[in-house]
Amino acid sequence: MIVQTFLFGLAAAFAEILGGSLIYFGKSWPRRAQETLLALGAGFILALVFLKLVPASIQAIGDAAMLYCVLGFATIHFFEHTIVGHFHFGEETHSDVMVSKVASVSAFSGMFVHAFFDGFTISIGMQFDFGIGILIFLAVLLHKFPEGLTIGSIVIAAGYSRKAVMMSTVGLAAATMLGVCTLFVFQGIGVEAIGAGFAFSAGVDVYVGASDLIPEINKSKDRIPPLVVFAGMILFYLSDRILESLVR
Ligand SMILES: [Zn+2]
Ligand SMILES: [Zn+2]
Repeated sequence: MIVQTFLFGLAAAFAEILGGSLIYFGKSWPRRAQETLLALGAGFILALVFLKLVPASIQAIGDAAMLYCVLGFATIHFFEHTIVGHFHFGEETHSDVMVSKVASVSAFSGMFVHAFFDGFTISIGMQFDFGIGILIFLAVLLHKFPEGLTIGSIVIAAGYSRKAVMMSTVGLAAATMLGVCTLFVFQGIGVEAIGAGFAFSAGVDVYVGASDLIPEINKSKDRIPPLVVFAGMILFYLSDRILESLVR
């Protein structure tokens, strides 16, 4: 289980670095492709939360699950939008607000916490239930490439060098792996605490889906990306069905 969890973490971290590399090499990526990936990720993660994570956490620890869920939601909100001034997913094009290097450093720290919890959700998901762990991994993987692109474009918009782009992207990849390492903390604790951590991660994923990804898609100039959200939900359903026949 430890090996699989680490491999999943590495794959997510790699996708992040891949996204940042695009900015590093100065390659432009069609806006449509970026929005499609974000939309697929949003639909997938939200369907996962409501169809699997919330029911499973309530089943595990009862009504208290919802408290941890709100706690997870609040934690990400605090780090991404309370202490950080300007932050949103997708390519950073507002170089005017990013002129201040402080703004980009604060955006990076917000994303660092986000990336840590990406790793954390994979880790706790795997501890909780192997099949659900795989689904959480897929949900994280889907938005990791745009995430790398996001941090890379923030750093460039703030006027930093390409080397800084690579360093910040690797930093987020490392944060993801750090989150995966919470695995060792959870090894010795009871089922009850794992249930609480799992419910917390459900709240984290609500935030990622509904506050990080959905607003970015709704800003789109055309109506296709919002429609792709439904495709993401269907993609979740199919992945769940396939896993069900394989794992269980
Ligand atoms: Zn911006
Ligand atoms: Zn993420």
